[in-house]
Parts: sequence; C-alpha cells; structure tokens
Amino acid sequence: MSFAAVLKGRPIELLSHVPIWQYVESKVKNFSSKVAQVDAETKREITFAEILDKSKELGVKLAAQGVAYGDVVAICSENNLDYCWIVLGVLWTGASCALLSPTYTAREWEHALSISRPKLVMCSMSVCETKLEQYLKSSNVKQVLVWDSKGKSLPEHTISLEEILDGTPIACMQKKKQRNICIGNALVVTQDSEEEHKAGKKKTKDHPAFILSSSGSTGLPKGVVLTHFNITTALTTSTDYTSCIEIALGVPPFCHAYGLLLVLMCMCEGTRVVVVRKFKPDLFIRSIEEHKVTCLYLVASLLVFLVKRDVLDKPEFSSVRHIWTGAAPLSPKLQQLVLQKLAGRALLHHSYGLTETTFTMFTCTVDNFRLGTPGKVTPGMECKVVDVETGKMIGPNHTGELCFRGPLIMKEYVMNTEETQKAIDKDGWFHSGDLGYCNEDGYFYVVDRLKELIKYQGYQVSPSEIESILVMHSAIQDAAVIGIEDETYGELPGAVIVREPDTQITEDEIKDYVACQVSPYKRLSGGVWFVNFIPKTTTGKINRRELRKSIDMLS
Ligand code: AMP
Repeated sequence: MSFAAVLKGRPIELLSHVPIWQYVESKVKNFSSKVAQVDAETKREITFAEILDKSKELGVKLAAQGVAYGDVVAICSENNLDYCWIVLGVLWTGASCALLSPTYTAREWEHALSISRPKLVMCSMSVCETKLEQYLKSSNVKQVLVWDSKGKSLPEHTISLEEILDGTPIACMQKKKQRNICIGNALVVTQDSEEEHKAGKKKTKDHPAFILSSSGSTGLPKGVVLTHFNITTALTTSTDYTSCIEIALGVPPFCHAYGLLLVLMCMCEGTRVVVVRKFKPDLFIRSIEEHKVTCLYLVASLLVFLVKRDVLDKPEFSSVRHIWTGAAPLSPKLQQLVLQKLAGRALLHHSYGLTETTFTMFTCTVDNFRLGTPGKVTPGMECKVVDVETGKMIGPNHTGELCFRGPLIMKEYVMNTEETQKAIDKDGWFHSGDLGYCNEDGYFYVVDRLKELIKYQGYQVSPSEIESILVMHSAIQDAAVIGIEDETYGELPGAVIVREPDTQITEDEIKDYVACQVSPYKRLSGGVWFVNFIPKTTTGKINRRELRKSIDMLS
C-alpha cells in the first residue's frame, strides 16, 4: 500500500442486543465453579458462580429500591474481590456505573459526581475509612452505601451494603417512585409496562454501561460514556488474545478502562485474576511466583521496575508467558531490553488505546509481532491518518493525527455535546489527538501527542486542570504545565510559573498548594521553574514546544 487509505481490521460478528450481564453469564456457565479471583494479600477467593450470584442478588435488591434503567450509580473503590460483582450487580438493574478513582481529592470527587449525576453512591470500606469524610464535606450526597463493612462502625451518612441486602431501605431513594422490578435474566421489567422492557432491550446498542473519566484533548476530566455494545464488542474481540491465559495479575485500577476490561475479559474467558489492591513491590513479585501467574497486565513503568529488579529471567518469573503493557507509550529501547531478558520465554504485547476507544486500537498477534509497533488495526475497527493542518487523509510513513471509527468508539462525553462533537466528527471518526503513522505493511507507530495530555504511569494528567488551580493562587500571575520525560514514570507534571510582581512564592509552596487539591499522580513531581513570561501562540494558547525549549535551557 503506498497511497492514502482507510485501514480496516478483520471484520467481526457484532452482538448489538446483548447486555453485558447476560453476555458474561453465557460465558461463565462453562467454568462457574472455578476460582475467578484471589486477593494477592489476604488470599481470599471468589468463584465465577459466586460473582454472578452475588451480582444478581445485588441487582434485584437495588432494583426493588428503585434503581432502574437510565439511572447512574457511582462506585468508588480500590481493586478488590467485591468490585466485579458490584459492577455487574448495578448493570443487572439496567443502570450504568460511574467509576470513580479512590485517589480522588474532594475537589475531583465533586467534579466527577457533578458530571455523572449518580442516583446512588457506593464505596469500599477502605475508601470510607480514608477519604469519605473529606468527600462528604464538599458534596451534597445524602447517603453512601459501603461494602465490606461487617463488624465495623460506619460514619454518619453511610449505610452498609449488607443491610441493604437484608432489606433496609436506602434513605436517598425513599422519596422516589419505585417503578421497576427485575425478574430473572431480563435487563429491566417494569411493573407498568412490558413494552418499556422490550424497548430497553432494543436500546442496548446505545445504552450506557459505564462513565469513565478522561480529559480528552483538553480541560477538566470529562465523563466518557461506554455502552453495553462497546463493552461486549471488546469482549468478543479480546478472545483472540486471552484464550491462552490461565492466571492473570490485575494491577491496573479497575476504575480505568484498562483494568475494567481486564477483569471483564477474564470473567468471560475463565481466567483467574490475582487481584492487587495496592502495588507493593515485594508482594507483586511474590504473587507472580506464589500463584504461578501466566499473564501480567502492566504499564511501562512497571516493566521498568521488573527490569531494575532483574527478575525477568529468574525462576520466580518462570510461569509468565505473556506480558501486556498499555495506557502509555512503551519505548523501543525498553521493549528491546525486556525482550532480551525474556529470551523467548514470554511474549511482550504492547497495546495502544484510549478510554474513548474502549479497548486497544492496534494489536499484534503472536505471528505478526514487530518491535516498536503496537500492531495493526484491531478487528472490527477502521483507522485513518489525517494531516493536522488540512484534515485530509495521508499515506504511509507520513505522520498525522490517528482517527478511528467503529463499534468500540464511545457514545459521547456525558452531558457535553460540544466536546463530543469536537471529538467525533459527523462521519463518525473519533479524533484521538495522538500523532502517528502506518508503514506500507499496515503496522502503526504512535510518535507524539497533538493534545495537551501528560501520562504519568498510565494515569492521565490534564495540564489545563493543574494550570487552572495554579492561576487561582494570589502570588501566581500565569502558569503552564508540561510533561517532563522520566525513565520510570513516563512523564512527570512540571510547572512553569510567572510570579505576581513583588511576591516570592517558592517551589515547595507551589508544590504543596497543588498537592492538597489533586490526586497524587497529578502533583508537580517534575519540578517548578520561574520565568518572566509564558510563550503563547497568536490565538493565546500556551506554546508548549517553545516552553519546553526554554525549560531545557533553564535545566
Ligand atoms: P487513557 O484514556 O487514559 O487510556 O489515555 C489514552 C492516551 O494514552 C492516548 O491518547 C495516548 O496519548 C496514550 N497512550 C496509550 N497507549 C499508548 C501507546 N501504546 N503509545 C503511546 N501513547 C499511548
């Protein structure tokens, strides 16, 4: 291929009318009594059947209290053994799940709730113990359902999920009309009308399943709406890569698309997941050996960790056959280093995707692996590369913006038509904001970013979010935030500051000021530089390339 063309992944069969819960149930039948998940630390186990049964019990109880098709339930938790059945339980009712990060500060939590507008909020005991008090101070949430709280005393405005399962009414739901009941496997059956139920099932294609956080190309985090159809398509597609995996280690947060898909994929394939609540270096290595893990789901920074620990060719690593990295760039240098160490004992898969694309957009299978590329277009999807200035499609080996179309593209940014229309054009092409090219053989290379996004260990940091916090400080006149390259974490957020005249705010004061308002990964760990002015483009936008040059000179 030497001319500009849309590249297509292999065609796939689409399942537009199967809700996620039913899809998972149909798969789990084959291995229901097997252990589905084990907690790396406590060794507690849960089987596939238990996950499904508990989810259905929760779904029935929530539906009886009025949680229904079209509602949103917010879930805030670290990775744990309850996460999956709680998510599936909410989906069983027809409501969608807004997944909140347990690293959020009160400000971020408030923002996430304001865009997802949940009817109900649920959190783990660990979030309740560490964060909930701060969260509740700054929000108008009336009651939070807390799980795993047996025998523990709960603060005001919370109720244990166990009590709800025993039939205690949820205070914030009492005034609502209890419209729906759920029966058997049906997505939602209303007391009023069977017709509504049928309509609900027909709408599965467009029906929201998840609201996940992403900053997209600019600004404060937006709520990415992924539908049942997006997710079941990803689950169908993923069988190509997961069917050979027996025991996986789940490190990516389940509230991020990467972790969520990993846990749902493993449910559908009968793969056991060793669940890591919080990354601890020794526990991580020990778990691989103890559970004879065959597949690791990582981000590049954890690969760096494995290289530095020098374990890739050691006996404790001998069960590992596959390593996946995603959510952030993987440098060819690191890839080569890892491959050398693995010496063919395990395969290294490198995926590229966005929350907005549900799943990886490029894939390499075992027989078409190549260094430095995440591979060819994922089955069922289309990709084109467009010139950044003209928007016209360009040919192989020319760098432009990567655009995608197909069943894995999000439905929308919740309640944000303007940003949705900017991201998905009228022909259905999603503009990724990433720069890349394909070669003559259809392999893609992601080389840079057009958008203003920093990736710290796979986590998104939006420069404009931090900038808007910085400029609110009385001693700061102007500020810009950029990613500072880092071997371990990928990029670190760094700030360039113009002080107000006659003020002497210090680097540490600025770092502390930001740290108390944002999740740990958004802190200014890359450093702070003081300048006289921030270079801007003619349209008033920060000229980040110029800024980077001036920082290089100052460093
Ligand atoms: P998220 O929505 O958090 O998954 O972030 C998506 C963004 O992460 C993409 O738009 C890219 O900028 C970056 N990203 C993810 N995977 C890769 C990769 N393999 N190579 C380069 N950048 C990546």
